[in-house]
Amino acid sequence: MSSSSSQKRVAFIGLGTMGREMARNLLKAGYAVVGHDVNAEAVSELGAEGLQPAASPAEAARGADIAITMLPDTPHVEAVIEGPDGLASAPPAGRLIVDMSTISPVAVRRLHAGLKEQGVAFVDAPVSGGPVGAKNAALSIMAGGDREAFLAAEPYFRAMGTTITHVGGTGAGQTVKLCNQLICGINLQAVCEALALGRAAGVDLEQLRKVLLGGSAASWMLDRLGPAMIGGDASAGFRIDLMLKDLRLVLEQAQALTVPLPGTALVTSQYMEAKAHGEGSNGNQALFRVYDRMTNRA
Ligand code: NAD
Repeated sequence: MSSSSSQKRVAFIGLGTMGREMARNLLKAGYAVVGHDVNAEAVSELGAEGLQPAASPAEAARGADIAITMLPDTPHVEAVIEGPDGLASAPPAGRLIVDMSTISPVAVRRLHAGLKEQGVAFVDAPVSGGPVGAKNAALSIMAGGDREAFLAAEPYFRAMGTTITHVGGTGAGQTVKLCNQLICGINLQAVCEALALGRAAGVDLEQLRKVLLGGSAASWMLDRLGPAMIGGDASAGFRIDLMLKDLRLVLEQAQALTVPLPGTALVTSQYMEAKAHGEGSNGNQALFRVYDRMTNRA
């Protein structure tokens, strides 16, 4: 714990799968953390570790050096910043708000413009690395915004992540994150197809996975999600609903910029098929169930 960080105060809004681990790491690094979540249990869970509860985003931000949001989607971030008792109504004393959720780059630019008029800096800093990366303070953090604001937020990022990059102006963090999600979504489809073909041909799938991990087909998805797919475990992980949200944001930006993304469009339909079969709350490896159905193995 450093003496300077112990004097700093963080308002943290959104203590779900990712946010709770990130808030924990800020506490471990010596920051005072005041937390708010619409789910009271999410807040009380961290009480024993030193997190102070707040009844609203505005209350959490009182006297804080920075406010950080980690919420599901664009409307939640808009509500927490612009809604009643939101951060814009009572900005943190340090006049710095950082959103680390994955949301629309268009919304990010609008929020930035509104806050700038109030003299409040805003950084979009989505993350990659999942709950394990969040727990191990090993997230990859891709930040967009003014350089000065990024530098002010950087020490807090260091408590949560290892790869911290200022990727450009406001909204650039979200664009890089959407590129990340596009690759993850399509790569998972490729893994599903390889496993479906290998299975139909009678190949040992665990051996197939190990061999492929040693060559040019190796990927994070094959490595981390392959075992659950081979074992038929669809339950835990990055939810299909969140993947569909991210792919929607990818396609919205692609449409706005007239960039055809046929691979993303196709795999989005397949994630939607999984959701239509009740898999929305399952981890995104549940995409393999689509292939189970297509190959009459369901
Ligand atoms: P989550 O649903 O587990 O957590 C979100 C939290 O926000 C919940 O505790 C919820 O109660 C709270 N919340 C919702 N609306 C609120 C409001 N108005 N005020 C206060 N709290 C509110 O989601 P998560 O998995 O932690 O993901 C958060 C963000 O990070 C998403 O944008 C997601 O796409 C992104 N992300 C998730 C992962 C992952 O693996 N789960 C990885 C990278 C990025």
